[in-house]
Amino acid sequence: MMKLTPREDYKEIPKYSLTGDLLAFHRCGLQYRLQNRGRLPPSTPVQLWFGGFIHGVMEDAYLSWREPSSDPRYRAFPWDYTLSHALQVTVDRTRLRPQNVIAPTNQFNPEPDQAQARSANLRAHEAINLWGPHLFPLIDRPEIALHGLRDMPETGHPRRADFFEISGIIDVLAATNMRALTDNVLVRRLQEVLPPRDGDFEIIVDYKGTDRPEPSDEMMRVYQWQLETYAWLRSRQEGARPVRAGILLFLTEVHPSREVLARLAERARLGEPVEGATAEDLEALRNHRWDRPVPRLSEQLRMHRSLYVIPLDSARAEMGAGLFDLPVSLIEKAVALEVRGVPLSKAWVDTWRRLPTPDGRPRRAPDLKTCIACDHRTYCPIALETHGASAVGTIPRPFSGP
Ligand code: SF4
Repeated sequence: MMKLTPREDYKEIPKYSLTGDLLAFHRCGLQYRLQNRGRLPPSTPVQLWFGGFIHGVMEDAYLSWREPSSDPRYRAFPWDYTLSHALQVTVDRTRLRPQNVIAPTNQFNPEPDQAQARSANLRAHEAINLWGPHLFPLIDRPEIALHGLRDMPETGHPRRADFFEISGIIDVLAATNMRALTDNVLVRRLQEVLPPRDGDFEIIVDYKGTDRPEPSDEMMRVYQWQLETYAWLRSRQEGARPVRAGILLFLTEVHPSREVLARLAERARLGEPVEGATAEDLEALRNHRWDRPVPRLSEQLRMHRSLYVIPLDSARAEMGAGLFDLPVSLIEKAVALEVRGVPLSKAWVDTWRRLPTPDGRPRRAPDLKTCIACDHRTYCPIALETHGASAVGTIPRPFSGP
Protein backbone atom coordinates (compact mmCIF):
# COMPACT_ATOMS: atom_id res chain seq x y z
CA MET A 1 0.00 0.00 0.00
CA MET A 2 1.31 3.42 -0.88
CA LYS A 3 2.37 5.38 2.19
CA LEU A 4 1.71 9.10 2.31
CA THR A 5 4.56 11.15 3.73
CA PRO A 6 3.82 14.32 5.71
CA ARG A 7 3.96 17.47 3.66
CA GLU A 8 7.18 19.46 4.12
CA ASP A 9 7.02 22.72 6.00
CA TYR A 10 6.00 25.49 3.64
CA LYS A 11 9.06 27.47 2.75
CA GLU A 12 8.81 31.00 1.50
CA ILE A 13 11.47 33.56 0.70
CA PRO A 14 10.37 36.90 2.22
CA LYS A 15 9.99 39.51 -0.50
CA TYR A 16 10.98 43.14 0.00
CA SER A 17 10.20 45.86 -2.47
CA LEU A 18 12.54 48.84 -2.24
CA THR A 19 9.75 51.39 -2.26
CA GLY A 20 6.78 49.48 -0.82
CA ASP A 21 8.73 47.96 2.07
CA LEU A 22 12.14 49.43 2.78
CA LEU A 23 11.44 53.11 2.11
CA ALA A 24 8.02 52.82 3.75
CA PHE A 25 9.54 51.23 6.89
CA HIS A 26 12.15 53.97 7.05
CA ARG A 27 9.43 56.60 6.94
CA CYS A 28 7.33 55.06 9.70
CA GLY A 29 7.42 51.54 11.12
CA LEU A 30 3.89 51.63 12.51
CA GLN A 31 2.28 52.96 9.33
CA TYR A 32 4.25 50.40 7.34
CA ARG A 33 2.93 47.56 9.52
CA LEU A 34 -0.66 48.73 9.34
CA GLN A 35 -0.91 49.80 5.71
CA ASN A 36 1.67 47.79 3.79
CA ARG A 37 1.87 44.52 5.68
CA GLY A 38 -1.61 44.59 7.19
CA ARG A 39 -3.13 45.73 3.87
CA LEU A 40 -5.28 48.33 5.63
CA PRO A 41 -5.68 50.67 2.67
CA PRO A 42 -5.56 54.37 3.56
CA SER A 43 -9.01 56.02 3.43
CA THR A 44 -7.59 58.92 1.42
CA PRO A 45 -4.65 57.42 -0.47
CA VAL A 46 -3.13 60.77 -1.47
CA GLN A 47 0.54 59.73 -1.60
CA LEU A 48 -0.20 56.21 -2.87
CA TRP A 49 -2.41 57.56 -5.66
CA PHE A 50 -0.07 60.34 -6.75
CA GLY A 51 3.01 58.06 -6.75
CA GLY A 52 1.24 55.51 -8.99
CA PHE A 53 -0.31 58.25 -11.13
CA ILE A 54 2.88 60.15 -11.93
CA HIS A 55 4.83 56.93 -12.66
CA GLY A 56 2.01 55.82 -14.96
CA VAL A 57 1.84 59.21 -16.71
CA MET A 58 5.59 59.23 -17.43
CA GLU A 59 5.59 55.63 -18.66
CA ASP A 60 2.50 56.01 -20.87
CA ALA A 61 3.72 59.36 -22.21
CA TYR A 62 7.04 57.72 -23.15
CA LEU A 63 5.32 54.77 -24.85
CA SER A 64 3.01 57.14 -26.79
CA TRP A 65 5.99 59.28 -27.82
CA ARG A 66 7.99 56.23 -28.96
CA GLU A 67 5.26 54.47 -30.91
CA PRO A 68 5.58 55.43 -34.61
CA SER A 69 1.93 54.65 -35.34
CA SER A 70 0.48 56.80 -32.56
CA ASP A 71 -1.00 60.30 -32.99
CA PRO A 72 1.79 62.56 -34.42
CA ARG A 73 1.03 65.16 -31.73
CA TYR A 74 2.69 62.78 -29.21
CA ARG A 75 6.03 63.17 -31.02
CA ALA A 76 6.22 66.97 -30.69
CA PHE A 77 6.73 68.91 -27.45
CA PRO A 78 5.10 70.79 -25.81
CA TRP A 79 1.93 68.71 -25.66
CA ASP A 80 -1.23 70.74 -25.33
CA TYR A 81 -3.25 70.30 -22.17
CA THR A 82 -6.05 68.36 -23.87
CA LEU A 83 -3.58 65.70 -25.05
CA SER A 84 -1.82 65.30 -21.70
CA HIS A 85 -5.15 65.35 -19.84
CA ALA A 86 -6.55 62.51 -21.98
CA LEU A 87 -3.48 60.44 -21.10
CA GLN A 88 -3.86 61.32 -17.39
CA VAL A 89 -7.47 60.10 -17.39
CA THR A 90 -6.44 56.84 -19.09
CA VAL A 91 -3.70 56.27 -16.50
CA ASP A 92 -6.13 56.86 -13.63
CA ARG A 93 -8.78 54.62 -15.18
CA THR A 94 -6.54 51.74 -16.27
CA ARG A 95 -3.75 51.66 -13.69
CA LEU A 96 -5.16 53.00 -10.41
CA ARG A 97 -8.92 52.46 -10.27
CA PRO A 98 -8.64 48.71 -10.93
CA GLN A 99 -6.51 48.55 -7.75
CA ASN A 100 -9.14 50.56 -5.90
CA VAL A 101 -6.73 53.48 -5.48
CA ILE A 102 -9.11 56.38 -5.99
CA ALA A 103 -7.95 59.85 -7.01
CA PRO A 104 -8.37 62.58 -4.37
CA THR A 105 -10.86 65.07 -5.87
CA ASN A 106 -8.94 68.06 -4.55
CA GLN A 107 -5.87 66.97 -6.57
CA PHE A 108 -7.23 65.51 -9.77
CA ASN A 109 -9.98 66.75 -12.07
CA PRO A 110 -11.09 64.18 -14.67
CA GLU A 111 -12.73 66.97 -16.73
CA PRO A 112 -10.49 68.41 -19.47
CA ASP A 113 -11.07 72.11 -18.62
CA GLN A 114 -7.59 73.54 -18.01
CA ALA A 115 -8.98 76.42 -15.97
CA GLN A 116 -10.29 73.83 -13.46
CA ALA A 117 -7.05 71.81 -13.39
CA ARG A 118 -5.93 70.62 -9.96
CA SER A 119 -2.35 70.17 -8.71
CA ALA A 120 -1.93 66.57 -9.99
CA ASN A 121 -3.25 67.58 -13.45
CA LEU A 122 -0.77 70.45 -13.60
CA ARG A 123 2.14 68.37 -12.31
CA ALA A 124 1.53 65.60 -14.84
CA HIS A 125 1.24 68.14 -17.68
CA GLU A 126 4.40 70.00 -16.63
CA ALA A 127 6.37 66.77 -16.02
CA ILE A 128 5.67 65.57 -19.58
CA ASN A 129 6.57 68.90 -21.16
CA LEU A 130 9.60 69.74 -19.01
CA TRP A 131 11.24 66.31 -18.89
CA GLY A 132 9.81 64.47 -21.93
CA PRO A 133 12.01 66.26 -24.53
CA HIS A 134 15.19 65.59 -22.50
CA LEU A 135 14.44 62.19 -20.97
CA PHE A 136 12.53 60.21 -23.59
CA PRO A 137 15.25 60.25 -26.33
CA LEU A 138 17.72 58.78 -23.79
CA ILE A 139 15.58 55.87 -22.58
CA ASP A 140 16.87 52.52 -23.69
CA ARG A 141 14.51 50.28 -21.76
CA PRO A 142 11.49 51.43 -19.73
CA GLU A 143 10.09 49.72 -16.63
CA ILE A 144 12.74 47.04 -16.05
CA ALA A 145 11.80 44.77 -13.16
CA LEU A 146 14.76 44.05 -10.88
CA HIS A 147 15.02 41.10 -8.49
CA GLY A 148 17.85 39.72 -6.38
CA LEU A 149 18.48 37.48 -3.39
CA ARG A 150 20.52 38.44 -0.36
CA ASP A 151 21.46 36.46 2.73
CA MET A 152 18.94 36.96 5.51
CA PRO A 153 20.63 39.05 8.20
CA GLU A 154 20.72 37.99 11.84
CA THR A 155 17.76 39.15 13.90
CA GLY A 156 18.44 37.51 17.26
CA HIS A 157 15.37 35.29 16.59
CA PRO A 158 14.99 32.07 14.60
CA ARG A 159 15.13 33.04 10.92
CA ARG A 160 12.15 32.16 8.78
CA ALA A 161 14.34 31.86 5.65
CA ASP A 162 18.00 31.81 4.67
CA PHE A 163 17.52 34.51 2.02
CA PHE A 164 15.29 37.44 1.26
CA GLU A 165 14.31 38.78 -2.12
CA ILE A 166 14.67 42.44 -2.96
CA SER A 167 12.93 44.03 -5.95
CA GLY A 168 12.26 47.29 -7.74
CA ILE A 169 11.38 48.83 -11.11
CA ILE A 170 13.50 51.33 -13.04
CA ASP A 171 13.94 53.00 -16.40
CA VAL A 172 17.36 52.59 -18.00
CA LEU A 173 19.14 55.22 -20.12
CA ALA A 174 21.96 54.18 -22.45
CA ALA A 175 25.24 55.99 -23.07
CA THR A 176 24.85 55.31 -26.78
CA ASN A 177 21.69 57.45 -26.82
CA MET A 178 23.53 60.37 -25.18
CA ARG A 179 26.41 60.85 -27.55
CA ALA A 180 24.39 62.47 -30.33
CA LEU A 181 22.52 64.87 -28.01
CA THR A 182 24.13 68.17 -27.08
CA ASP A 183 21.17 70.45 -26.30
CA ASN A 184 19.88 68.22 -23.54
CA VAL A 185 19.63 69.21 -19.88
CA LEU A 186 20.09 65.66 -18.59
CA VAL A 187 23.15 65.00 -20.77
CA ARG A 188 24.74 68.28 -19.63
CA ARG A 189 24.07 67.49 -15.99
CA LEU A 190 25.46 63.96 -16.34
CA GLN A 191 28.59 65.33 -18.00
CA GLU A 192 29.10 67.68 -15.03
CA VAL A 193 28.83 64.83 -12.54
CA LEU A 194 30.58 61.97 -14.34
CA PRO A 195 34.30 61.88 -15.11
CA PRO A 196 34.74 61.50 -18.89
CA ARG A 197 35.18 57.87 -19.86
CA ASP A 198 34.60 55.94 -23.07
CA GLY A 199 32.70 52.71 -23.31
CA ASP A 200 29.14 51.65 -22.95
CA PHE A 201 27.32 52.21 -19.70
CA GLU A 202 23.86 52.78 -18.25
CA ILE A 203 22.10 55.37 -16.13
CA ILE A 204 19.14 54.36 -14.01
CA VAL A 205 16.14 56.60 -13.42
CA ASP A 206 13.53 56.59 -10.69
CA TYR A 207 10.53 58.93 -10.45
CA LYS A 208 9.48 60.30 -7.07
CA GLY A 209 5.98 61.66 -6.44
CA THR A 210 7.26 63.85 -3.61
CA ASP A 211 9.02 67.16 -2.94
CA ARG A 212 12.80 67.08 -3.09
CA PRO A 213 14.05 66.62 0.50
CA GLU A 214 16.49 69.14 1.93
CA PRO A 215 20.12 67.88 1.77
CA SER A 216 20.08 67.37 5.55
CA ASP A 217 16.88 65.28 5.40
CA GLU A 218 17.48 61.60 6.10
CA MET A 219 15.20 60.58 3.21
CA MET A 220 17.71 62.01 0.72
CA ARG A 221 20.30 59.55 1.98
CA VAL A 222 17.76 56.73 1.89
CA TYR A 223 16.89 57.59 -1.73
CA GLN A 224 20.61 57.39 -2.54
CA TRP A 225 20.78 53.89 -1.02
CA GLN A 226 17.81 53.02 -3.15
CA LEU A 227 19.65 54.05 -6.34
CA GLU A 228 22.76 52.18 -5.20
CA THR A 229 20.67 49.08 -4.57
CA TYR A 230 19.02 49.38 -7.98
CA ALA A 231 22.52 49.51 -9.48
CA TRP A 232 23.47 46.38 -7.51
CA LEU A 233 20.36 44.54 -8.72
CA ARG A 234 20.87 45.71 -12.30
CA SER A 235 24.50 44.55 -12.29
CA ARG A 236 23.24 41.00 -11.69
CA GLN A 237 21.03 40.97 -14.77
CA GLU A 238 22.20 39.32 -17.96
CA GLY A 239 23.23 41.78 -20.64
CA ALA A 240 23.43 44.74 -18.27
CA ARG A 241 26.21 47.28 -18.82
CA PRO A 242 27.98 49.00 -15.91
CA VAL A 243 25.75 51.54 -14.15
CA ARG A 244 27.57 54.86 -13.83
CA ALA A 245 24.89 57.16 -12.42
CA GLY A 246 21.44 57.26 -10.93
CA ILE A 247 18.83 59.95 -11.50
CA LEU A 248 15.96 60.85 -9.21
CA LEU A 249 13.21 63.02 -10.68
CA PHE A 250 11.13 64.65 -7.92
CA LEU A 251 8.03 65.31 -9.95
CA THR A 252 6.03 67.50 -7.56
CA GLU A 253 8.75 70.12 -7.99
CA VAL A 254 7.65 70.86 -11.57
CA HIS A 255 4.63 72.58 -9.97
CA PRO A 256 5.92 73.26 -6.46
CA SER A 257 3.83 72.65 -3.36
CA ARG A 258 2.93 75.51 -1.03
CA GLU A 259 5.35 74.11 1.57
CA VAL A 260 8.25 74.23 -0.91
CA LEU A 261 7.29 77.72 -2.04
CA ALA A 262 7.13 78.94 1.56
CA ARG A 263 10.61 77.53 2.25
CA LEU A 264 12.10 79.05 -0.93
CA ALA A 265 10.36 82.40 -0.30
CA GLU A 266 11.79 82.51 3.22
CA ARG A 267 15.27 81.80 1.86
CA ALA A 268 14.94 84.50 -0.81
CA ARG A 269 13.74 87.07 1.76
CA LEU A 270 16.68 86.25 4.04
CA GLY A 271 19.09 86.64 1.11
CA GLU A 272 20.15 82.99 1.29
CA PRO A 273 21.05 81.19 -1.97
CA VAL A 274 18.23 79.52 -3.90
CA GLU A 275 20.04 77.14 -6.24
CA GLY A 276 18.86 77.28 -9.85
CA ALA A 277 16.81 80.48 -9.38
CA THR A 278 16.85 83.31 -11.92
CA ALA A 279 16.66 86.98 -10.86
CA GLU A 280 12.91 86.92 -11.73
CA ASP A 281 12.42 83.82 -9.56
CA LEU A 282 14.08 85.53 -6.60
CA GLU A 283 11.89 88.61 -7.04
CA ALA A 284 8.71 86.48 -7.30
CA LEU A 285 9.73 84.46 -4.24
CA ARG A 286 10.51 87.53 -2.14
CA ASN A 287 7.03 88.89 -2.93
CA HIS A 288 5.24 85.59 -2.42
CA ARG A 289 2.77 85.31 0.46
CA TRP A 290 0.94 82.17 1.61
CA ASP A 291 -2.49 83.51 0.63
CA ARG A 292 -1.48 84.74 -2.84
CA PRO A 293 -1.65 82.76 -6.12
CA VAL A 294 1.31 80.47 -6.74
CA PRO A 295 3.95 82.41 -8.74
CA ARG A 296 5.10 81.01 -12.07
CA LEU A 297 8.72 80.00 -11.49
CA SER A 298 11.20 79.54 -14.36
CA GLU A 299 11.74 76.19 -16.08
CA GLN A 300 15.36 76.45 -15.02
CA LEU A 301 14.51 76.52 -11.30
CA ARG A 302 11.81 73.87 -11.49
CA MET A 303 14.05 71.50 -13.46
CA HIS A 304 16.97 72.15 -11.16
CA ARG A 305 14.88 71.31 -8.09
CA SER A 306 13.32 68.21 -9.59
CA LEU A 307 16.60 66.68 -10.82
CA TYR A 308 19.06 64.86 -8.57
CA VAL A 309 21.99 62.90 -10.01
CA ILE A 310 24.51 60.71 -8.20
CA PRO A 311 27.53 58.96 -9.72
CA LEU A 312 27.56 55.21 -9.13
CA ASP A 313 30.06 52.38 -9.42
CA SER A 314 30.20 48.75 -8.34
CA ALA A 315 31.68 49.51 -4.90
CA ARG A 316 28.94 52.04 -4.11
CA ALA A 317 26.29 49.66 -5.41
CA GLU A 318 27.53 46.86 -3.14
CA MET A 319 27.68 49.15 -0.12
CA GLY A 320 24.21 50.67 -0.72
CA ALA A 321 22.58 47.27 -1.13
CA GLY A 322 24.19 46.17 2.16
CA LEU A 323 22.70 49.14 3.98
CA PHE A 324 19.20 47.78 3.40
CA ASP A 325 20.10 44.64 5.35
CA LEU A 326 19.50 46.53 8.60
CA PRO A 327 15.86 47.55 7.90
CA VAL A 328 15.21 44.00 6.66
CA SER A 329 16.60 42.54 9.89
CA LEU A 330 14.49 44.98 11.95
CA ILE A 331 11.32 44.14 10.01
CA GLU A 332 12.03 40.42 10.43
CA LYS A 333 12.58 41.01 14.15
CA ALA A 334 9.28 42.89 14.48
CA VAL A 335 7.52 40.02 12.66
CA ALA A 336 9.10 37.51 15.08
CA LEU A 337 8.05 39.61 18.11
CA GLU A 338 4.52 39.95 16.82
CA VAL A 339 4.29 36.18 16.25
CA ARG A 340 5.35 35.72 19.90
CA GLY A 341 2.43 37.89 21.02
CA VAL A 342 4.19 41.21 21.64
CA PRO A 343 1.57 43.96 21.07
CA LEU A 344 1.71 45.23 17.54
CA SER A 345 2.46 48.86 18.34
CA LYS A 346 5.28 47.89 20.72
CA ALA A 347 6.82 45.33 18.36
CA TRP A 348 6.89 47.73 15.42
CA VAL A 349 7.55 51.06 17.14
CA ASP A 350 10.37 49.83 19.39
CA THR A 351 12.02 47.94 16.54
CA TRP A 352 11.69 50.83 14.07
CA ARG A 353 13.30 53.16 16.62
CA ARG A 354 16.49 51.11 16.35
CA LEU A 355 17.13 52.47 12.86
CA PRO A 356 19.97 54.93 13.43
CA THR A 357 19.22 58.60 12.77
CA PRO A 358 21.71 60.97 11.10
CA ASP A 359 22.14 63.06 14.28
CA GLY A 360 22.03 60.10 16.68
CA ARG A 361 18.86 61.41 18.35
CA PRO A 362 15.83 59.15 18.99
CA ARG A 363 13.79 58.50 15.84
CA ARG A 364 10.69 60.65 15.54
CA ALA A 365 7.49 60.61 13.45
CA PRO A 366 7.71 61.69 9.81
CA ASP A 367 6.81 65.26 8.85
CA LEU A 368 3.48 66.69 9.94
CA LYS A 369 2.03 66.51 6.39
CA THR A 370 2.56 62.72 6.34
CA CYS A 371 1.02 62.26 9.79
CA ILE A 372 -2.00 64.45 9.00
CA ALA A 373 -2.69 62.30 5.91
CA CYS A 374 -2.35 59.09 8.00
CA ASP A 375 -5.51 57.33 9.21
CA HIS A 376 -3.75 56.19 12.39
CA ARG A 377 -2.88 59.63 13.70
CA THR A 378 -5.79 59.71 16.14
CA TYR A 379 -4.25 57.05 18.35
CA CYS A 380 -0.63 57.09 17.25
CA PRO A 381 1.82 57.49 20.16
CA ILE A 382 4.69 58.58 17.88
CA ALA A 383 2.71 61.36 16.15
CA LEU A 384 1.44 62.58 19.53
CA GLU A 385 4.94 62.68 20.99
CA THR A 386 6.51 64.35 17.90
CA HIS A 387 3.86 66.80 16.73
CA GLY A 388 1.55 67.23 19.73
CA ALA A 389 -2.15 66.39 20.03
CA SER A 390 -3.47 69.64 18.58
CA ALA A 391 -1.37 69.34 15.40
CA VAL A 392 -2.40 65.79 14.44
CA GLY A 393 -5.92 65.84 15.94
CA THR A 394 -5.29 62.98 18.36
CA ILE A 395 -8.37 61.96 20.29
CA PRO A 396 -7.56 61.85 24.03
CA ARG A 397 -7.66 58.42 25.67
CA PRO A 398 -10.89 57.69 27.59
CA PHE A 399 -10.70 58.79 31.22
CA SER A 400 -9.83 55.70 33.23
CA GLY A 401 -10.68 56.96 36.68
CA PRO A 402 -8.55 58.16 39.54
S1 SF4 B 1 0.44 59.20 12.37
FE1 SF4 B 1 2.52 59.53 11.63
S2 SF4 B 1 3.83 58.48 13.12
FE2 SF4 B 1 1.74 57.69 13.39
S3 SF4 B 1 1.55 55.85 12.14
FE3 SF4 B 1 0.86 57.56 10.90
S4 SF4 B 1 2.66 58.27 9.78
FE4 SF4 B 1 3.37 57.00 11.49
